[in-house]
Amino acid sequence: MKIKCPKCKEDAELAPDFSYVECKKCGLDMSYGEYVRYVAHSEAQYSDILGDYTGATEGETAGTLDEWED
Ligand SMILES: [Zn+2]
Repeated sequence: MKIKCPKCKEDAELAPDFSYVECKKCGLDMSYGEYVRYVAHSEAQYSDILGDYTGATEGETAGTLDEWED
């Protein structure tokens, strides 16, 4: 299926079995797992959505520790 290439923002092709992502425009060729990590990394640079998510997780951990101290 067609997905957005994380590199050149053109149409890339995702294999039907999610085994690879290929973009003929810029030559992108990686496994789907690598693609997900690539996109997550790229998104983190342009937005703070991932940062907010990480912060929320850290907050939960801190809250758990506080409960133990009480
Ligand atoms: Zn591309």
